[in-house]
Amino acid sequence: MTDFDYFCEMLRTHNRIVFFGGAGVSTESDIPDFRGTDGLYTKKTNLPWTPEEMLSHHFYVEHPVEFFTLYKEREGIMLKAKPNRAHYALVELEKQGKLSAIVTQNIDGLHQKAGSRNVFELHGSILRNICQICGHIVGMEEFISLSNPIPYCPFCHKGILKPDVVLYEEALNTAVIDGAVDAIRRADMLIVGGTSLVVYPAAGFIRYFRGDASVIINKDVTPQDDFCDLVFRNSIGAILEEGVKRISQ
Ligand SMILES: [Zn+2]
Repeated sequence: MTDFDYFCEMLRTHNRIVFFGGAGVSTESDIPDFRGTDGLYTKKTNLPWTPEEMLSHHFYVEHPVEFFTLYKEREGIMLKAKPNRAHYALVELEKQGKLSAIVTQNIDGLHQKAGSRNVFELHGSILRNICQICGHIVGMEEFISLSNPIPYCPFCHKGILKPDVVLYEEALNTAVIDGAVDAIRRADMLIVGGTSLVVYPAAGFIRYFRGDASVIINKDVTPQDDFCDLVFRNSIGAILEEGVKRISQ
């Protein structure tokens, strides 16, 4: 039995699968990982700040013009992106009653765009923006139409909107954490895709897994490889799409 046969067998015999995804899922939709070596922000920008600093809470407060200039550039790339084979395979698994939840570190909303329902977005979503004074929520289309580069609240006209994404220095949303941990704890199979599991909080979350089938699909080696039943270095979309096709035959 090949590793791929074994993977398909796992998919067939498990019904509470959780998919834990990182940046690698989105790079297959041509959204660059800014942490990666060929990432967008490692290119020379001539700015005195690192991308991590520019996407931090204090930077949003102190340098809103530069923050939104960078944020909107990144957001534009995400809005143009389309769900890929990985997203659609997960939709199919959920429809078949096999997948109980997706836990993602991505903020691009592509799982929902593809049609997935139970998605825990650990780092929030670019699709929502919140006024920092009155709490008014602004959707994506309206947000884009607001004055450049600093988007003021269209309701109170005083507050600056903040994307509902977790910036550096900010805490994760506790309700989202609780939901994600609960889903992982109750999962019988865990598929980790597109994350090296070294950056907080990914490594911490998978500790809660108590099931008997674990799979990592990632281009690079991860510290968890030795503890998993299967490791694939292939494209996440290719493995998931083929796997779903096989069990649906
Ligand atoms: Zn407001």
